[in-house]
Amino acid sequence: MRAVAVDPQARIARAQGGATWADLDGATQAYGLATPGGAVSTTGVAGLTLGGGIGHLRRKYGLSCDNLVGAEVVLASGEVVLSSAIENPDLLWGLRGGGGNFGVVTTFEFALHPVGPEILMLMVMYPVEQLATVMPAWRDFMVTAPDELSCNGFLTSRPCDSRTTPHENGTLVLTAGIKVEASVVP
Ligand SMILES: Cc1cc2nc3c(=O)[nH]c(=O)nc-3n(C[C@H](O)[C@H](O)[C@H](O)COP(=O)(O)OP(=O)(O)OC[C@H]3O[C@@H](n4cnc5c(N)ncnc54)[C@H](O)[C@@H]3O)c2cc1C
Repeated sequence: MRAVAVDPQARIARAQGGATWADLDGATQAYGLATPGGAVSTTGVAGLTLGGGIGHLRRKYGLSCDNLVGAEVVLASGEVVLSSAIENPDLLWGLRGGGGNFGVVTTFEFALHPVGPEILMLMVMYPVEQLATVMPAWRDFMVTAPDELSCNGFLTSRPCDSRTTPHENGTLVLTAGIKVEASVVP
């Protein structure tokens, strides 16, 4: 149950309960549309959405659950019900981040937004000794950064590969992963 149907005019996507984000993004990007997902394509649409869903589009379009506009659900009784803003709206409210205990969701219906298909991604590494300088500068930069830009910072060991010298292998670095919609690049 991984099928995805896209209505580009209504800007709605319907994903079956077993779809991954690769399934959903692949179908919507054919129209230059997207709904906020997570950071990794192999995660399931279901668990991520029912738990909230924080991803690259969060600053501009919110969480995955914010964009859930409808669902088909099999209740514990076996009854199949639809939920939307007008039909069983309390169930939709629960599904939007309330976890997986309201029933089995067989179809997720998402609002879509114009995104891509071209986006930019950049990863910058700083020596961990610069932490006290970089973190406040990053914080100040993000206060006025456009919503199209999302940025994650994390402490990690520098990978050992051909781009690093033996001295640098495995050293602790502060990494900033930055994703930008091409439309906002000057
Ligand atoms: C590699 C990786 C990267 C991640 N990145 C992010 C990220 O960027 N942002 C983020 O917010 N989270 C992220 N997560 C966390 C992710 O949101 C959760 O692990 C989520 O539960 C994954 O959903 P799933 O459907 O793949 O998992 P599953 O383990 O299949 O399901 C999780 C829960 O949802 C229930 N469930 C599954 N399908 C349905 C259904 N159709 N109807 C009702 N209940 C159902 C299950 O019973 C279970 O309780 C990441 C996880 C991994 C492993």
